[in-house]
Amino acid sequence: MPHIDDESLALNALGEDVLDPEQRAHLDACPTCTRTVRDLARVTARVRPRTPEPELVPPDPTVWARVHAELGLTDVPAVPAPGQVTAGSGPAGAGEAHDAATDELSARRARRSWLPALVAACTALVLGLVGGVLWERRTLEPDETTIASAVLDPLPAWAGSSGEAVLQTTAEGRREIVVSVDAPAPAGTFREVWLLKPDVSGLVSLGVLEGDQGRFDVPEGLDVAAYSVVDVSEEHLDGDPAHSGDSVVRGSFET
Ligand SMILES: [Zn+2]
Repeated sequence: MPHIDDESLALNALGEDVLDPEQRAHLDACPTCTRTVRDLARVTARVRPRTPEPELVPPDPTVWARVHAELGLTDVPAVPAPGQVTAGSGPAGAGEAHDAATDELSARRARRSWLPALVAACTALVLGLVGGVLWERRTLEPDETTIASAVLDPLPAWAGSSGEAVLQTTAEGRREIVVSVDAPAPAGTFREVWLLKPDVSGLVSLGVLEGDQGRFDVPEGLDVAAYSVVDVSEEHLDGDPAHSGDSVVRGSFET
């Protein structure tokens, strides 16, 4: 019998059981092959990590099927079952026992090669489940409930401007007014949002409107039915906290 091929000797030195009985008998008797294995083993012992590589166990086929079903994938990729692999990875002309050994080796390699895909699929599954749960919670518990809305019409000096106000309650029970205004913003001025009584006998400031839209808390206990008018004023940096008298847009809540 000729000497054992280099690949089989190398795998044998790495601790893989790839030799058939005939090769094993040859190895026991042949000083040349024995020396080769010993030299290879010495080299691999130096480069190999001290901790053994963890053995990867293939999951039950139903796991893959469930992952696939959960992700709504249509085509199921072929997952090689142990022993069901293509031939040709081992030395030619070897016996049946040798085939079984290389088959097992190839199957192990195949399992490693599709493992990243399974990990990716499981990650996607987890992310999908988390996203679904968050989406469901948002759907079941809306953050705000709209109570009333108001169209804000421009005052004569601000013709062409417009606005809208929406009265909402938050999930925590607070009242908020979301104000949006479409109007020119001259330099050196700012906007302030107010609630006032229709007869202007009462006036409450909600705060400064930055930009085109703002969200304002309604003071606890304030009767919005009485203070039903939303007013947005043009204010100057003059240090006077009172309403400037220059209203841009104004409108009443309608439930
Ligand atoms: Zn030999």
